[in-house]
Amino acid sequence: MNRLNRLARERLSGLLDGFGLQADITLSNWIDGAACPGEGGTIDLLDPTTGEALVDYRDAGPSLVERAVVAATRAQAEWMALTASERGRRMNAAVHGLEGHEETLAQLECLVAGKPIRDCRGEVGKVREMFEYYAGWCDKQHGEVIPVPTTHLNYVRHVPYGVVGQITPWNAPMFTCAWQLAPAIAAGNGVVLKPSELTPFTSVVIAKLLERGGLPQGLVNIVNGLGPSTGAALTGHDSIAKLVFVGSPQSGRLIAEVGARRLVPSVLELGGKSANIVFADARLGDAVAGAQAAIFAAAGQSCVAGSRLLVQREAFAEVTERLARAAADIEIGLPGDETTRMGPLQNARQYAHVARMIDDAVAAGARIIAGGSRPTGLPDEAQGYFLSPTVLVDVTPDMEITREEVFGPVLVALPFDDEEEAVRLANASRFGLAGAVWTQDPARAHRVAGRLRAGTVWINSYKAISVMSPFGGFGDSGFGRSSGLDGLREYTLPQSVWVETASEASVAMGYGSGVG
Ligand code: NAD
Repeated sequence: MNRLNRLARERLSGLLDGFGLQADITLSNWIDGAACPGEGGTIDLLDPTTGEALVDYRDAGPSLVERAVVAATRAQAEWMALTASERGRRMNAAVHGLEGHEETLAQLECLVAGKPIRDCRGEVGKVREMFEYYAGWCDKQHGEVIPVPTTHLNYVRHVPYGVVGQITPWNAPMFTCAWQLAPAIAAGNGVVLKPSELTPFTSVVIAKLLERGGLPQGLVNIVNGLGPSTGAALTGHDSIAKLVFVGSPQSGRLIAEVGARRLVPSVLELGGKSANIVFADARLGDAVAGAQAAIFAAAGQSCVAGSRLLVQREAFAEVTERLARAAADIEIGLPGDETTRMGPLQNARQYAHVARMIDDAVAAGARIIAGGSRPTGLPDEAQGYFLSPTVLVDVTPDMEITREEVFGPVLVALPFDDEEEAVRLANASRFGLAGAVWTQDPARAHRVAGRLRAGTVWINSYKAISVMSPFGGFGDSGFGRSSGLDGLREYTLPQSVWVETASEASVAMGYGSGVG
């Protein structure tokens, strides 16, 4: 065990003790208001910074999933027995449970996910924002009155599913946890959430703090473990009425298949290969800074990463050269250092996947103009999953590196000649999560944005997102929406209620006069 690793283990233990959770295999789930041990096999977590053992814990397993579902079912009935205003008040109060713990939550995420501490603080801020936003919706889910062409009063209510199952990935554990918990409970559901097995702790802490702040015991339950064991027990559970999944297209397909077999609907928030289009008339300084942030933030481990840069041919050399220089200037360092802008990749499997994709691209003819190897200047003990920001040119649209999600700090740049070709290249992807257009021509900006097959499009910007605005994919990037009113509606079913208002009811056989 090296010095950095020993410090990380001590720090993790201290942080978890501070939250009343122990950094060992005993307490890694939050079920019905209590931390409890898993019952399955042991899961070893490695430290992203050093690549050495950090902590181990036990997979929850099916019987804990069962306990979590039972608790959520009971708590959901209690939750819906409250008035809508009271549910809103409780959600707002729950946010206060986080107060005073923001920094320790950020430190915990930083240690386990390997993300720069500055980014982790931002993620904690998003947790608060999401709960406050959806708390406001609790007493505003009015339903509608439909002017049906009969003597009936017809109104529509938005009815919660009951207990929903949520599954989240490792790249933004706190963000994705709050992103799905807040609308689910604002809509009146109970929740069982399974975080990634690689980042199990912050979701447990968030659930505990929210409950301490005011949420009913058992309304939010966190089960930790592997996809094929705990994840499958959750998605296959008879009482889970809706599945919400954030993760890779490969796992998303499995979740949707389980949902289809059980006739349970799903929301899938999956990966991307987003196109960032720079026209020669753009303010190139802004476009280069935007392209850099689009791909290298979170070491490229972001679903909306702008991983395909399309640049109009006359500006291609200038943009790629400036970007290569900017990439080399990014401060890579230990995640806990205040100056670090890019930390390691989160795990060994992801590192191997990214390195293999770069090697194969080079073997296929791509040329590295920045990065492509381990950064220099790190402490000797930081033998974890660090990779320099990488830019590749001489790539073709059919190469794997241009088509598939890398989920690492790797950008491919391709030239285009005109608007038609830019749109064709951008849409030549099975994904459709996000995209951007950089130009000073407003008509072209809107024209191109409207032709992109992507759930989110930015004009002269990148990565602006808000809990108020719907987010989701086209194609293999998934279906359903999160955030905003669309995200809330994913957690309810419309119920149409017909009330006869005529003095005498006359129920016709078939499509008679009474039914339009
Ligand atoms: P992953 O698919 O490997 O795992 C995601 C989650 O699914 C984990 O909790 C995992 O344990 C669980 N899982 C895996 N197999 C399962 C099964 N058979 N049954 C139930 N659960 C199962 O994804 P990852 O590597 O953790 O995350 C990276 C991916 O997530 C990338 O593709 C990224 O683009 C995507 N992502 C998408 C969004 C979005 O909003 N669209 C946000 C963040 C990440």
